Amino acid sequence: MGHSEWFCDVCHEGFQTRGKRDAHKSRSHRVKAFLKIGGMTKEFRRNESGKFDCLCGKEYERAHTLRRHGVTCTAIITAIESESESSENEDGTR
Ligand SMILES: [Zn+2]
Ligand SMILES: [Zn+2]
Repeated sequence: MGHSEWFCDVCHEGFQTRGKRDAHKSRSHRVKAFLKIGGMTKEFRRNESGKFDCLCGKEYERAHTLRRHGVTCTAIITAIESESESSENEDGTR
């Protein structure tokens, strides 16, 4: 009674029905996260341990923490700036 039979394979939390487990999984463990910074959208995917790898090397379990970090992350901002520049500047002399 009240026994959890459906387990989330990411966080191992138990749910009484498969539907609840699936709803939890799609809400809490989305595979992709999108970050919109400076008019550009960057896509992040989960790594093998189920976390989002940021460009700076930090890992985030949740999309919304990644997103909050992303607006202040200089590694992301630098990557986005160089991406938007490299479309015009192809030989990249440094
Ligand atoms: Zn979970
Ligand atoms: Zn970062």
